[in-house]
Amino acid sequence: MKYCPNCGAQLPDNANFCSVCGTRFGAPQQNYQQPQYQQPQYQQPQKMTYMDRVRQARQEQKQKKGQIKWWMWALIGIGTYLLIQFNPLGLS
Ligand SMILES: [Zn+2]
Repeated sequence: MKYCPNCGAQLPDNANFCSVCGTRFGAPQQNYQQPQYQQPQYQQPQKMTYMDRVRQARQEQKQKKGQIKWWMWALIGIGTYLLIQFNPLGLS
């Protein structure tokens, strides 16, 4: 049951107009077409993918750095040890 917005008469829910005063109300038109703006085509998914790639690359670089560090320090240690022990460059 709904009521006429104009005269307040009780009307069935499926009524499109008031049978007392004749006011048409009904449901608001659904086929109103909003103007279509042509939005500039930003390729956001690709951007996200690129950022993800950069982040992933940075993480991989960090991991590589972490992997490099231990054997790099080992080489430095071995080199220092060899330099001290055998002094191949003639350093005192
Ligand atoms: Zn009415």
